[in-house]
Amino acid sequence: MKVLDELSKTHLALSQSELESTFRKVDRITLYRALRDFEEAGIVHKIVDMNGTTRFAICSDDCPDATHNEEHVHFNCQRCHKMFCLQHTHIPDIQLPPGFTHSGINVLVQGVCNKCS
Ligand SMILES: [Zn+2]
Ligand SMILES: [Zn+2]
Ligand SMILES: [Zn+2]
Repeated sequence: MKVLDELSKTHLALSQSELESTFRKVDRITLYRALRDFEEAGIVHKIVDMNGTTRFAICSDDCPDATHNEEHVHFNCQRCHKMFCLQHTHIPDIQLPPGFTHSGINVLVQGVCNKCS
C-alpha cells in the first residue's frame, strides 16, 4: 500500500489531508479505513498536533500491536508546522500519585526544528 511507503520514507507524522494531496486518486473513505486498519494492526500510530489535527506516523519495529506502547516524543515545529515523530527520544518515567496507573503517555514538544533554526 502506497500510504505506508509514504509514511515510512519520512519521519514526519502526516495528516489525512496531507496524505490525500499526495495521492490524488484515493478517496477519503478508503484512506480513512486504511489508516484505521493500520492503526489497529500496530503499523501506524496517531498523534494530535498543536492545532488539534490528527496525524499519522509509522510505528517502530518494536511496537507491540494495537496498544502502541512505544513511548517517544513528538515534536511540532512552530515555523514549518511539521510534526516529527522522534522514535529515539524516549519519554522519561513519570511519577504518578499512589493509585494512579497509566496506560499511555503523550508528549508533544513545541519549538523550532533543525531545518528552521
Ligand atoms: Zn505503534
Ligand atoms: Zn520547522
Ligand atoms: Zn511517533
